[in-house]
Amino acid sequence: MYLCGMLTVNEIIEQKNFSRENIVTLLNAEGPDGLFLLKRAGEQKLNIVGNKVYLRGLIELSNICEKDCFYCGIRKSNKKINRYNLSDEEVLKAARFAFQEKFGSIVIQSGEVTNEKFVARIEKLIILIKELSEDKLGITLSFGEQSESVYRRWFAAGAHRYLLRIESSNPVLYKKLHPDDGHHTFQQRLAALNLLKEIGYQTGTGVMIGTPGQTIEDLADDLLFFRNFDIDMVGMGPFIEHNDTPFKIPAADSLPLSGRFNLSLKMVAILRLMMPTINIAATTALQAIDPLGREKAVMAGANIIMPNITPGSYRNNYLLYNNKPCTDEEPEQCAGCLDARLALADSEIGYGEWGDSIHFTNGK
Ligand code: SF4
Repeated sequence: MYLCGMLTVNEIIEQKNFSRENIVTLLNAEGPDGLFLLKRAGEQKLNIVGNKVYLRGLIELSNICEKDCFYCGIRKSNKKINRYNLSDEEVLKAARFAFQEKFGSIVIQSGEVTNEKFVARIEKLIILIKELSEDKLGITLSFGEQSESVYRRWFAAGAHRYLLRIESSNPVLYKKLHPDDGHHTFQQRLAALNLLKEIGYQTGTGVMIGTPGQTIEDLADDLLFFRNFDIDMVGMGPFIEHNDTPFKIPAADSLPLSGRFNLSLKMVAILRLMMPTINIAATTALQAIDPLGREKAVMAGANIIMPNITPGSYRNNYLLYNNKPCTDEEPEQCAGCLDARLALADSEIGYGEWGDSIHFTNGK
């Protein structure tokens, strides 16, 4: 077994509170040690949150964005994509589908737009979705940084979870990933996350794994950030370059995609051991690298899957990175393959359940 000072990987795993040094050791664990880590995290998940995987039907409402993140395929400077905006009827149809198929919850996401017309539209859609589902469909939002009053309006309308990725908890790295135009700072992102928590949302965040210039220590700090922030939900996955962005060419010191994938699985596993009761998503970016990527993440501790229920014709225009999977399928096809896929991971779907983060509902 690998030795770190006096502690083996096995001994670290059995501890309650991982130090930064412990986490770095776990992130570097390979071979039998790496497999043991994934196995123990899977067991931890079964013991604490059970074998159910909860669905969040993902509706990509629009690819219009006011921001210009260097890594993102729908950044405002990308002139090569067709911008789209689903109609209200298309959004409601997708939500109705999720409700009828007993998905339990939806996530509505788009690029960041902050004007009043957009804000009021989302508010109205939340109310209509609550009505059409007799209040039974849980609603998660992912619309980036908004003002406190906007977050409050959407919360009052019925949304109860919000996803806002920190992308990196290292302010220096954050700055390398985002334009320094005075409107996109690490501090603003952190302030927005604090607001969401304060208002009462189940708050989710996440990071990209394998971005240019990122170190193993940065990833260890990301995990510590989740713990210190007392986060309720996390979605994180491998960074994948997009051809029409400044980050299209892998940096000389970049990990190969397979390395980013393995590191992502270890991040999921370590987080499950550190925060046993939170919700952890098996992200689509994992599936873009390995067809069974999401299932492998479920076996390593993830308990949330976000099947895309955006009408198929729009999906090719919501490409945040290259090779995004399932872009040609219609929602019915997506839903159909999930049961079989998850059976492979010894899991079952929590149909009709919200599957809220136990960490949140238990008051941490
Ligand atoms: S990551 Fe989000 S905020 Fe940044 S450009 Fe892409 S959609 Fe816009």
